[in-house]
Amino acid sequence: MEKLTFSDTVEKIPNIGPKYKNLLKKLGITSVKDFLFHFPSRYIDFSNLKTTKEVSLNDNVTLVGGIKEAKLIFTKSGKKITRGTFYDDFGELYLIWFYQPYIMRTLRDGGQFSVSGQITIYDKKRAIFNPTIEPFEEGGEGRLHTGRLVPVYPETSGLTSKWLRSRMSHLLKNSNLTEYLSESVKTKHALLKLDSALNIIHFPDTEQEVEKAKERFKFEELFNLLLQTTERKTKWQKNKPVKVFEEQEEKIKVFRESLPFTLTKSQQDSTSEILTDLVKDIPMNRLLQGDVGSGKTIVAVFASYFAFLNGCKTYFLAPTEILAKQHFQTIKTFLEPLGVKVGLVTGSVKDKGDFDIKVGTHALLLNEFDPDLGLIVIDEQHKFGVKQRAALLAQTSKTRPHVLTMSATPIPRSLAMTLIGDLDCSFLTDIPGSRRKVTTWVVPNEKKDKAYEWIKNEIEKSGKKSQAFVVCPLIEESESESLKNIKSALDEHKRLSSTTFKKLKTDVLHGKMKNKEKTEIIDNFRNGKTSILFSTPVIEVGIDVPTATIIVIEGADRFGLASLHQIRGRVGRNNEKCYCMLFTESDDPAVYSRLKNMETKHNGFELAEMDLQLRGPGDILGLVQHGDMKLDLVTVQDLLNPGYINKIKETAKEVVETNPETLGELYKHLKGS
Ligand code: ADP
Ligand code: MG
Repeated sequence: MEKLTFSDTVEKIPNIGPKYKNLLKKLGITSVKDFLFHFPSRYIDFSNLKTTKEVSLNDNVTLVGGIKEAKLIFTKSGKKITRGTFYDDFGELYLIWFYQPYIMRTLRDGGQFSVSGQITIYDKKRAIFNPTIEPFEEGGEGRLHTGRLVPVYPETSGLTSKWLRSRMSHLLKNSNLTEYLSESVKTKHALLKLDSALNIIHFPDTEQEVEKAKERFKFEELFNLLLQTTERKTKWQKNKPVKVFEEQEEKIKVFRESLPFTLTKSQQDSTSEILTDLVKDIPMNRLLQGDVGSGKTIVAVFASYFAFLNGCKTYFLAPTEILAKQHFQTIKTFLEPLGVKVGLVTGSVKDKGDFDIKVGTHALLLNEFDPDLGLIVIDEQHKFGVKQRAALLAQTSKTRPHVLTMSATPIPRSLAMTLIGDLDCSFLTDIPGSRRKVTTWVVPNEKKDKAYEWIKNEIEKSGKKSQAFVVCPLIEESESESLKNIKSALDEHKRLSSTTFKKLKTDVLHGKMKNKEKTEIIDNFRNGKTSILFSTPVIEVGIDVPTATIIVIEGADRFGLASLHQIRGRVGRNNEKCYCMLFTESDDPAVYSRLKNMETKHNGFELAEMDLQLRGPGDILGLVQHGDMKLDLVTVQDLLNPGYINKIKETAKEVVETNPETLGELYKHLKGS
């Protein structure tokens, strides 16, 4: 029989018909390669099966037996736990689960289970806390795979690990596992060969072996990422800008002195980094990072003015219409007096005429770029949708303007180097003016109503001068506004406006509203006609209402700390005392203590570092443009290990410089693509 190849579709695998094809698709598996790269999430160690007689305190063990007396109980401290008694022919021990009430469903099915975990003591009896359990199949194929480390795969309903195991074993024997890494790369990084690595990761003999196999695939993920950034950077640097700009020292100085404030040190530094880029004969590709309120806009205004002085146009892009309008006003105020013509282009407004700076949303991307476009400023690029980002990339690759991206969600400097190697970075590290810290409280569910009561009193006490934002829970993550999110905002608004906030004027804002309606609602809030504005979490960016002093974030546990910080930044824009309340329904102590950080920490970069440690790099990966890139095996420690990363970077550079023609083929095979 002819061997299968990576690019074959799963239907070519024996015993896979339309039914399994569809199930596999749910796991993201459509090709033989996808299948082989569907790695186990863990292994059960059946090579070290023990009985209750043989285990002692602190052992990590796997046991097979029955479970009886399963129930939900309350501990003395009032916590709800699930407890069952495990038994085999030799004795018993407790199994205890915290915060996993659904485990009861599995336990109720009865039968034999394999149970793994560490032996500890509970209530004077031997116990395992949060054991992993699986129904244990005696005889049949289960047995075929016992007596060794058995892979457990990410599953989907109707597709079990048992089934995946048997197909995987077939595939490993009957596919062409053709190596795509060169000998020299493997030697330099001490990597296993592809066929060994695949065989081991699915059916290992020991845990140490698994680590070695994972090393190889982790390398592939990073190599893939770094090859792409290196290639992009190399290509980018071969471009010529529309025009090489000339220094404008005198005019820039005059402009700086005309501002109503002095630039902070980091605003000055960033501005000069940018202006230095702009006189080079390769196009700038720079990311300006800075906390909410750190004053990024004015830095971008300098760049735009510089382009204007050099006879080039600037596009200034924002992810939402509201934000675009805000920028339009700001830029006009600063630059119109200097003879710069500023226009607005959004879905609903299309200023006609010849403008030096066009401010707008992605609507700006719908037409051909102006031939004398010299600079694109992109605010909060990650808030643009996938399609819009693609359009942006296509347009900029064609016309090659200088590109300045701005982001308020800080990527720690250490990570920026790794993940966005093709961009240069500037950082705004100080907050201008004498802004006050926002007093922050984490509010557990039972105190929620009291907190709303307090807000009502605060607003009434201030003679309705104070205003509040209420950000409703994020029910669904989605690129555009999801209906569930809207419903939850509408419901919460309805509930509170007819009870606690009955005597106050409230309003609700969500992304599916018409722009005219949105503008009206925001204007009413800005003018103080509305006291409390409810909104979905999608409307988080940039709304600037300096009189707002209180912000409530419901379902705060659904957000990363850096995002919470960004949302919190909507208040604290004046000199009043401001408050942020983080509501959570979770009673998980880990969630609670994570949120508690918001009470003491007020620096976006610090909070982003914490996110990284606590939640992994996922949040941050979403921010950089490799949204489609998967880093499953790479850990935070890896990303923060410069020695390790630099060595891979070096190899990537070598390949890009010496064998660029091999890149396409490599990308096709590497893990993560
Ligand atoms: P962000 O970085 O969040 O985009 P903005 O650019 O909107 O911040 O700036 C926030 C506010 O701070 C604006 O009202 C802006 O005019 C003001 N601002 C910017 N730079 C300074 C400065 N150096 N001194 C005082 N105020 C400043
Ligand atoms: Mg901004």
